Amino acid sequence: MKKHIVLLPGDGIGKEVIHSAREVLSAVAEEYNHSFSFETHEIGGAAIDQYGTPLPESTVDACKQADAVLLGAVGGPKWDQNPSHLRPERGLLGIRKALDLYANLRPIKGFKNLLHASPLKEEVVSGSDLLIVRELTGGLYFGTPSERRDNGNAVVDTLAYTRKEIERIVDKGFQAAQQRRGHLTSVDKANVLESSKLWREIVEEKKAQYPDVAVEHVLVDAAAMKLITNPTHFDVIVTENLFGDILSDEASVLTGSLGMLPSASLREDGLGLYEPVHGSAPDIAGKGVANPVAMILSAALMLRYSFQLDDEAKVIEEAVQSVLDAGFHTGDLQVTDGRLVGTVEMTKLIVDYIKSQNASKCIASCYF
Ligand code: NAD
Repeated sequence: MKKHIVLLPGDGIGKEVIHSAREVLSAVAEEYNHSFSFETHEIGGAAIDQYGTPLPESTVDACKQADAVLLGAVGGPKWDQNPSHLRPERGLLGIRKALDLYANLRPIKGFKNLLHASPLKEEVVSGSDLLIVRELTGGLYFGTPSERRDNGNAVVDTLAYTRKEIERIVDKGFQAAQQRRGHLTSVDKANVLESSKLWREIVEEKKAQYPDVAVEHVLVDAAAMKLITNPTHFDVIVTENLFGDILSDEASVLTGSLGMLPSASLREDGLGLYEPVHGSAPDIAGKGVANPVAMILSAALMLRYSFQLDDEAKVIEEAVQSVLDAGFHTGDLQVTDGRLVGTVEMTKLIVDYIKSQNASKCIASCYF
């Protein structure tokens, strides 16, 4: 398979971890006979410094031409005092909008030798493996009017959705559940909000199309509680923008390791932007100690969701698990009796595993 990937390293550790993802993808391409070409563009603070804007036209154009986009992270103290149109985060919101990325997918999985770092009891969080599918372009964050009234003494925000916007994200939730354990939790506030009532109706209509998926409706307040009392209950959660924003951040602390969490933002035709959940970590940037796993797992999501290369995605995920199982870890992960490694060594261990797996498969198939 031949694919063109745009790399947006951004700022801080974004530059270090994107290099790791490229190394891993190159190894996958070599081992599985694919051809991945890469093109690097600026976004965020780096783009402000070079082009005077956090999102240059050339970056947007390149992303529109690409088969997929990998993004590191943006931001840092250097640009913290800039006016809002010159903040690095503007680049991030701008590229999501320019590419019409309507679905945000965040898988959250506990790695067994890291569970002691979770704020929850190990026995509660152990075995949790869930995916949050969040609507990204509608709802309260984009509805109009959104303004102060009555000389600033009253305020209105608007929660608006069209049927089409709800249908496409609900479909994405069902499809994700089909690819996983076949259980979908639709989260809403249908006891109060009209938008949630339409959401629930659409989920009910859609379920006939996905008879292999078991569906439940859970109110957002109950879902927030269940995430911390019984996270293993969940397989796929699908929800609207605001609820998804809050629940995905709540869920991201379950595993106790920010440096391990990938994410995907998808367009209807499959183009996706893949990025770690963490930021640019200016406190450790340039020191060679950043954990590259969230970025590398984001590259695995790219293979799965944009290129339908599920076996290749799985080998990356297995490689990460195997390296952690062997006790290797970066400084952000609290592993007792492990072996502390930096970004480059961690990446190499993952690359070596991928190469060794494929070599052993080849030996087996050639022999028998
Ligand atoms: P952060 O995620 O960058 O860092 C939080 C803490 O986690 C820091 O101590 C950092 O060293 C550590 N950390 C994060 N990722 C790590 C990794 N891969 N390996 C090892 N340690 C890691 O969040 P922050 O400090 O609140 O924000 C720093 C900058 O990043 C800010 O400018 C913020 O606006 C930006 N930010 C960007 C994104 C994004 O690009 N998507 C997301 C969040 C924050």
